[in-house]
Amino acid sequence: MQVAQTIAAVREALDAARREARRIDLVPTMGALHAGHLSLVDAARRRGGCVVVSIFVNPTQFGPREDYHAYPRNLDADLDACRAAGVDVVFAPSVEEIYRPDRQTTIHVASVTERLCGPHRPGHFDGVALVVTKLFNIVRPHAAYFGEKDYQQLVMIRRLARDLDLDIEIVGCPIVREPDGLALSSRNAYLSAAERQRALAIYRALQKGADLVARGQRQAPALEAAMRNELLAAQVFDIDYTSVVDAETLAPVERVERPAVLAIAARIGRTRLIDNVRVE
Ligand code: AMP
Repeated sequence: MQVAQTIAAVREALDAARREARRIDLVPTMGALHAGHLSLVDAARRRGGCVVVSIFVNPTQFGPREDYHAYPRNLDADLDACRAAGVDVVFAPSVEEIYRPDRQTTIHVASVTERLCGPHRPGHFDGVALVVTKLFNIVRPHAAYFGEKDYQQLVMIRRLARDLDLDIEIVGCPIVREPDGLALSSRNAYLSAAERQRALAIYRALQKGADLVARGQRQAPALEAAMRNELLAAQVFDIDYTSVVDAETLAPVERVERPAVLAIAARIGRTRLIDNVRVE
């Protein structure tokens, strides 16, 4: 496995693959790798080409009062995990390598970023769009893999790729959960044992919503209220949203008639968690 810390080094590492006409598959991450990330690596590996994992805690996607400095970082453990998972190239640049102090360009995907997490994390999706575009241009992959855990991010990147004719296949991968349902997240490391227990209410609320849909409830307000009540019953009071949105456009729906996504963002203690499930 090659580890590249500069743009020049990762491009050089990929030159050989390109010369041999091997495909290149990119898994962008912020590190603190867990089984969710590794499921994306597996999906990439199944394509049989050269698998690149980027590890970069991207400062531009964190708000001033968010957890950029506290975000878990453990490059050595991440490199071991990548080696064990059969990754070919890890790109782990410094902030200075990625961002020139005098940069002027922003990338803004409208509409799909305006709801759900958008209003609660101003600037977040612009930061993601910028870093992902840069990673795409640095690595020039055939395909890139993103988790449905960050559903809004996945939808935004699909739009970005389409709107900018990037010619990169965007592959969405299912959410990996703990046996008790908690979606894996690097931020779960912040939770105390008691908070982790309370955090289970998020998936419980989503399941409750999905169960109601399966039993014929189509009204979004009723579904949203049921999810909210499930959270409140577990003493989860700091709720950013319990929403029912169109699976493709992320527009709020009044009635579930096409594929939709039930989505929740809530704070457990000081840890903001998100999760979602798809309903048909
Ligand atoms: P992050 O390091 O949190 O930026 O995540 C990197 C990628 O891993 C993103 O595409 C996430 O959606 C994906 N990911 C994170 N957690 C999970 C999970 N539990 N299941 C599937 N994918 C995930």
